[in-house]
Amino acid sequence: MKILVSACLLGLACRYDGKPSFNEDLFSLIKNHELVPVCPEQLGGLTTPRNPNEILNGKVLEKNGKDNSKPYIRGAKETLHIAKLLKCDFAILKERSPSCGSTMIYDGTFTSTKVPGNGITAQLLKENGFIVLSEGNLDAISALLNKK
Ligand code: SF4
Repeated sequence: MKILVSACLLGLACRYDGKPSFNEDLFSLIKNHELVPVCPEQLGGLTTPRNPNEILNGKVLEKNGKDNSKPYIRGAKETLHIAKLLKCDFAILKERSPSCGSTMIYDGTFTSTKVPGNGITAQLLKENGFIVLSEGNLDAISALLNKK
């Protein structure tokens, strides 16, 4: 299968703090599947490293209130374009990110408080019919991979 994956999970140092979030279980999928690494925040034109952002009232904000919604939306659109162009079967995205989170995100108070919700990219992919799973949901990932 062809799987769109958050690039940081595959070891690319594209996180806001310039570090990766390497996940060995996901990387091992490369033996039997095509993995397509994407970083929506870099695709949206944000720098690495960059200030952390959280979603509050539908906007993506830095702690100082700077509104970064535009690059986040641009990154989401670019990611969707890649997913469609390469005919990805589904996506595995990094939980809690304001772009990639698919079940939980931070609540916009910069206090490490998590709430149910989607990042901007995960939301757009779902709206366009893509299944988006988080890296923590290995059972669901295995179930999808065993379907074909
Ligand atoms: Fe990883 Fe997604 Fe954040 Fe990029 S935007 S660093 S891929 S979680």
